[in-house]
Amino acid sequence: MERYLDNDIKYVSGVGEVRARILEKEAGIRTLDDMLHYYPFRYVDRTKVYRIGDIGESMASSLVQLRGRVTGVGYVGEGRKRRFSVSVRDGSGQAELIWFQGIKWIEKRIEVGREYFIFGRPSFFRGEMSMVHPEVETVEKALSRKVESGMQGIYPSTEKLSSTFGTKGIYNIMCTLWPMVRDHIADPLPAAMRDACGLVPLAEALYNIHFPQSAEALRQAQYRLKFDELLGVQLNILSRRSERMSRNNGFVFPKVGGVFNTFYNEKLPFPLTGAQKRVIREIRSDTVTGYQMNRLLQGDVGSGKTLVALMSMLLAVDNGYQACMIAPTEILARQHFASVSRFLAGMGVGVAVLTGASPATERRHALRGIADGSIDILIGTHALLEDKVQFSNLGFVVIDEQHRFGVEQRARMWTKNSRPPHILVMTATPIPRTLAMTLYGDLDVSVIDELPPGRHPIKTVHYTDAARLRLFGFMRQEIAKGRQVYVVYPLIKESETMDYKDLYDGYESISRDFPLPDYVTAVCHGQMKPADKEESMRQFKSGEAQILVATSVIEVGVDVPNATVMVIESAERFGLSQLHQLRGRVGRGGEQSYCILMSGEKLSREARARLDAMCRTSDGFELAELDLKLRGAGDINGTQQSGMAFDLKIANPTLDSQILQRARTAAEEVLEADRALALPGHEGLRELRRRYSGETKFDFSMIS
Ligand code: ADP
Ligand code: MG
Repeated sequence: MERYLDNDIKYVSGVGEVRARILEKEAGIRTLDDMLHYYPFRYVDRTKVYRIGDIGESMASSLVQLRGRVTGVGYVGEGRKRRFSVSVRDGSGQAELIWFQGIKWIEKRIEVGREYFIFGRPSFFRGEMSMVHPEVETVEKALSRKVESGMQGIYPSTEKLSSTFGTKGIYNIMCTLWPMVRDHIADPLPAAMRDACGLVPLAEALYNIHFPQSAEALRQAQYRLKFDELLGVQLNILSRRSERMSRNNGFVFPKVGGVFNTFYNEKLPFPLTGAQKRVIREIRSDTVTGYQMNRLLQGDVGSGKTLVALMSMLLAVDNGYQACMIAPTEILARQHFASVSRFLAGMGVGVAVLTGASPATERRHALRGIADGSIDILIGTHALLEDKVQFSNLGFVVIDEQHRFGVEQRARMWTKNSRPPHILVMTATPIPRTLAMTLYGDLDVSVIDELPPGRHPIKTVHYTDAARLRLFGFMRQEIAKGRQVYVVYPLIKESETMDYKDLYDGYESISRDFPLPDYVTAVCHGQMKPADKEESMRQFKSGEAQILVATSVIEVGVDVPNATVMVIESAERFGLSQLHQLRGRVGRGGEQSYCILMSGEKLSREARARLDAMCRTSDGFELAELDLKLRGAGDINGTQQSGMAFDLKIANPTLDSQILQRARTAAEEVLEADRALALPGHEGLRELRRRYSGETKFDFSMIS
């Protein structure tokens, strides 16, 4: 049945074909329903107007509304620096409004002598107040709109949207839309659930999210809409989980046998930490239940996850199954292969490696060996997902660094045997519990919360480019002590050639300041030939090169205990979690290690908060929580949840953890009674579950 709300937004008066296409492209709004679910990201209190004279420097950068008369306009500066300057005055003082962009657009709208409402962030210079790119509207126009509570929604926008619709355009469309749709809004939640959870009806929530009648009505609207999103996600996750548990077709590993014991008793070069032991026990008990294991192993960088993975794989081998381990990059895969081979040397366990770059002989050897069963453990990259990779009896899969790996890919591994193998997903990103529950709710979670003994905390400092000489001096000092240094450049996508310029400029400047023959600098990035990459890595690992210049995405997963300095260039471009990951590459040996964050002078508030946090703490969980808060609190909507594949528009699993808990309980209850959501009255819930079935890809390495 065609729902009224599925109609194209172009039919709303004032939109039309062309502007509809812009809405779709810029904001993903295609239907009336999409528009209805396009929420304001903040509200202007139109009743609160500040007097210019009352705004003190303490209010710099916070959002305020003024009402003032334009006393003059002018142009300042030349060429690219040209700006449009407007003087406004009220009874208490005067302020300057400044535009660097969109001058043509704004100058037509400003009239000397007229009175305007002005909304923006004040800044101060020598006691004079100014505002850059404020929103302005004539007083007449603002007062002609009836906004009862005084709160008016400000919608997320893009440059294109603003130039097409103006500052109030989306709001105006919403005003036209509302009377059309108000009687077509069906509430997906059964009344009993709404009552039990104290939720207002959906239509009421939507009305108040767009046109809040009071602060309390807005709060309830937000609560309700967040609840729906989180409920949709939970219905998905819990359904997936109960389906998995109902199948009861997991492999059983009843025994701990010779391979595991020999390794543990004779090969292990150090005692396991308590946390490692606990996690191995958890995995072991999963694999005797008859259910297929899906476990997420979280542990900070350097906490020894690889060893846990290896010992789990040995359990599989002891029980006659094969195991494989998938790493996110070629280099990591080869490094795992090298260390696993070393650990298992002389034990009669067949180990092979397979990557996209494997030479023909290596590939043949691996494929033949896993098919005939002579290879017990295969280590590689995404190449292992290919259909050509056929195991004789795969029972256990380890996936290292989950955040680059989606659920679909996990599911592909399930088909590599007649029954799905056990899956252990490892991530060095300490995901806050609340979020793990939302995003990985179909996984059980283990945590390694203890580092191997004898690690020094890493000293972290933030330098601006002005301190580059000091940085080089410090690098020389460390190198003179026999240590090694990483210099990492941001790279958003491996395909973005532009970013390589920074890396090469940096490489050249380092090669000049650290000349041969005293110094050797290696360079390594994703666009190099595998053989060249490997040569660079070999140089650095062997200590032949003291400096490694590399990109962030791929090459830094290496374990070089002698490296004590991690220099991160343009550190402001990295997300917190990624900074933390990179920092974890040093401090692996017994020496004091350092992380140096380089940035320009000018930083956004958020970037500064990230760098400050890095200098303040090395607790991965604390950083991960903060990361989410910083990103969740971003002013510009749309980037807010960009790390999440679930299409959450308003809920933030970290900040809204209480609502999340309630939604989870509600989802559990309803699924308990009606697992398929097939009962009458549950159509809406079924639709909600479908709407939020987006996969749990969570890219924590995203660069903000
Ligand atoms: P992760 O993958 O969690 O970042 P790794 O497994 O690479 O960490 O381990 C980091 C380093 O610590 C490796 O050199 C590893 O051999 C070492 N290591 C692991 N477990 C222990 C332990 N229990 N005691 C001492 N060193 C350990
Ligand atoms: Mg690791």
